[in-house]
Amino acid sequence: MATKVPETYGSLVFNDKVMRDKLPKDVYKALKKTIENNTHLELDVANSVAVAMKEWAVENGATHFTHWFQPMTGYTAEKHDSFITPVGNGEVIMDFSGKELVKGEPDASSFPSGGLRATFEARGYTAWDPTSPAFIKDGTLCIPTAFCSYSGEALDKKTPLLRSMEALSKSATRIINLLGNTEVTGVLSTVGSEQEYFLINKEDYKKRKDLIFTGRTLLGAMPPKGQEMEDHYFGALRPRVAAFMHELDEELWKLGIPAKTKHNEVAPCQHELAPVFETANVAVDHNQLTMEMMRRIADKHGFRCLLHEKPFEGINGSGKHNNWSMTTNTGDNLLEPGKTPAENTQFLLFLAAIIKAVDEYADLMRISVASAGNDHRLGANEAPPAIVSIFLGDELTEVIEAIENDTLFKNSKKEQMNAGAVVLPHFFKDTTDRNRTSPFAFTGNKFEFRMLGSALSVAGPNVVLNTAVADELDIFYEELKSVSADEMENAVHELVKKTIMAHKRIIFNGNGYSDEWVEEAEKRGLYNLRSTPEALKEWISEKNVNLFTKHAIFTKNEIDSRYDILLEGYSKTLHIESETLFDMVNKEFLPAVMQFEERLTSSISAKKAIGVGSTKTEEKMLSEISDKYDEIFELVSKLKADTLKAEEIEAQDDKAIYYMETIIPDMDAVRVIADSIEGYIPEDIRPYPDYSKILFYV
Ligand code: ADP
Ligand code: MG
Repeated sequence: MATKVPETYGSLVFNDKVMRDKLPKDVYKALKKTIENNTHLELDVANSVAVAMKEWAVENGATHFTHWFQPMTGYTAEKHDSFITPVGNGEVIMDFSGKELVKGEPDASSFPSGGLRATFEARGYTAWDPTSPAFIKDGTLCIPTAFCSYSGEALDKKTPLLRSMEALSKSATRIINLLGNTEVTGVLSTVGSEQEYFLINKEDYKKRKDLIFTGRTLLGAMPPKGQEMEDHYFGALRPRVAAFMHELDEELWKLGIPAKTKHNEVAPCQHELAPVFETANVAVDHNQLTMEMMRRIADKHGFRCLLHEKPFEGINGSGKHNNWSMTTNTGDNLLEPGKTPAENTQFLLFLAAIIKAVDEYADLMRISVASAGNDHRLGANEAPPAIVSIFLGDELTEVIEAIENDTLFKNSKKEQMNAGAVVLPHFFKDTTDRNRTSPFAFTGNKFEFRMLGSALSVAGPNVVLNTAVADELDIFYEELKSVSADEMENAVHELVKKTIMAHKRIIFNGNGYSDEWVEEAEKRGLYNLRSTPEALKEWISEKNVNLFTKHAIFTKNEIDSRYDILLEGYSKTLHIESETLFDMVNKEFLPAVMQFEERLTSSISAKKAIGVGSTKTEEKMLSEISDKYDEIFELVSKLKADTLKAEEIEAQDDKAIYYMETIIPDMDAVRVIADSIEGYIPEDIRPYPDYSKILFYV
């Protein structure tokens, strides 16, 4: 079945073409202005848009609408209302007003608010975000919205992202204008997020409580074969997987999500999808939708899609690469090395701002990817380390060194600057991106932030990037604002030079996985925030609070509430893992071991009864297994007791630390022993599918 992609692409989206077709000209213009310039939308315009939206949605089979939002759970939320309005005589019409479009009151008192809302003032509001297009999913018109409290405090991931995009736009535009390019009136941050995931058989999934409750396996020994052959990477797609990917592409395209590449990843059953980049806000929404569609379509194909950062011990986990850049409203990518000296000046200034931003706010970048799940990856030999650094590649590093040593942009040699020597050659694209171990790599015309875990919303990392870079651009602006046009190029070069000299410790082109780097990074004074609780402490440092409040990204209240939510989320995750492990070991694993012991015992007695054969092996095995049985029982009892203690700790930060320092080692201890005897338990009494079954029989 070959569908004509260009015709179905975006068919479920209220996109620009539909708007142009459906809206009166003046309304269309007013809406476009709102979208492009972030201006206020009048109610009569909203009413008119609502009517057109409803008509289009109903034509396309929708009966309901929902304000689609992204609370702090990391998932999306929706509450459906139908369009029907009774008009007497038992009849209804399909109705939808501007007010319903722009504002919703989902109540939604149970989402995490970190103390921003007491339940008596539980009302939360959703507000239409016209910069991300509405779409139809399952017969419901979904309207992307921001979610905030009664008093206007952000309760979601979208609000701060929009604020950060605005901050970056303002700061970037101002400095571009100062450099003489006055055509630019706005700058958008752009994001392309490459998404990794696992596909396993649904039947296997359903038999494992750990996967069901925690998204990862809490027990399980390595199979005879792991990923050491690397034969899965870019391998041919198996037919069932290909069918899944095909349907996924089609559904994503209908939703206007530009899914572009797909391939097998390194680990068995692991795959990746990458879209074409879009503006940060739309990219965040689309990544959320992509993850939702992956889960849903997997289910139809008899699979379960695992988005956890580390579903299997000993097998690579899943990440998400956040490709990030900035584009002017005139269509120029600000991280594209220039073709002219003027473009280069601008490029180098932005590059310097990013280097400074990453050096000064490396802690925030680390925090933006922190979660209990991602702690299993960062620093393990599969994902970039917990230390944030920048990879520039050889050529760009040479350019930077030249600037530092005055070998390129020499003030006294003005003629050199006009001779084309300052034009950066266009060679970056192919020669960079060889270093997969770097957390933040320049890849030719964008930066690739690689520390994100697969389950994460990409909103947070982009809030940090946008805000930190905006801040540095403001500082640069202050330094340059009174420089005359003639002197500007020299002044910029001096500023770039000064910045690089002060912040070059963050640049590292070597192997980020090596132990030497950990030592070296410490010497350089870089952060190494190994775990989520350690990292989160920095979230509320004065420097970070100042950054966010200065740019009106978060109020102090919002910062504190997020701190609580993140800490609490960490402890809750580990609490669920601990309870699940306890349950599995007691109800499933130990009983299976006991059954095996019974088999050994009856074999021993049977042999002894007839007096034939030796019982040496059975006895040895029985004694070993029964020792381990006792040991496991003691270890899970300790786990249980410690978990009860954890739950009594009141302060969220102490609690998170206790979970990290006590519960994680407790769980590891249980696992080590259990995994060491898993292989002895005969197939027919294994309580759940093992790694071999899950990973090699798809
Ligand atoms: P690779 O990482 O394999 O080299 P690409 O360079 O083609 O692949 O791109 C990887 C991701 O980066 C894609 O999602 C792509 O859309 C995105 N990307 C490319 N250019 C930009 C940009 N200017 N801003 C943000 N993302 C971008
Ligand atoms: Mg990539």
